[in-house]
Amino acid sequence: MKTIGLIGGMSWESTIPYYKIINEVVKDKLGGLHSAKILMYSVDFSEFEQCLSVNDWYRISEMLTDIAKRLESAGADFIGICTNTMHKVAPIIQDQINIPILHIADAIADVLCDDGIKKVGLLGTRYTMTQEFYKERLISRGLEVAIPNDKDIEIVNRIIFDELCIGVINDHSRDEYVRIIETLVANGAEAIILGCTEIGLLLSQENCNVKLYDSTVVHANSIARGAL
Ligand code: GLU
Repeated sequence: MKTIGLIGGMSWESTIPYYKIINEVVKDKLGGLHSAKILMYSVDFSEFEQCLSVNDWYRISEMLTDIAKRLESAGADFIGICTNTMHKVAPIIQDQINIPILHIADAIADVLCDDGIKKVGLLGTRYTMTQEFYKERLISRGLEVAIPNDKDIEIVNRIIFDELCIGVINDHSRDEYVRIIETLVANGAEAIILGCTEIGLLLSQENCNVKLYDSTVVHANSIARGAL
């Protein structure tokens, strides 16, 4: 079994399901007392959020590269970054380490393509929805990606940072997400990517009629399989 290097804490609320799912998959595949070999560096998310608020991606890439190098030195065979947004700097980190990063958007694209999805709606932070770093990896696999309108992008983003990342689960916010998902479906989306690792804390498949792909679940499964 390979040793997984996890960069967590963004937020810690969503790193908990990563740890649980990875271990469940390993237990399921290997049985008995088997569990995953994991090195985890869990950050102080406030330091990253401060950089995000001033768009200091350079500093973010420096901090994450330093962590990835530490995990590599400690014996990790590959890296999983437990957030969608921070994959904006994944190529920069990748250039400075000698072990692979298992990219969250690639894990999602694999599953969507296997399931024959052509047009998908994407929910995530403002960065993930509006910038190219995430969508381009889906588009390069032949997927069409739909995002909410500007007003709804702000609602989705605000709920992530002001509520979900600090563990606040609010029924009205769930209703807002369902409304936004229904709009994406009305515009042709055949499935929805929960492209922020906290959204699964608010919303699950029973809240929606359209198929949801939770990036936390998909990525954690892919990381576990990558270790085996
Ligand atoms: N966990 C979130 C994501 O998957 C947002 C927090 C962050 O900025 O990393 O994008």
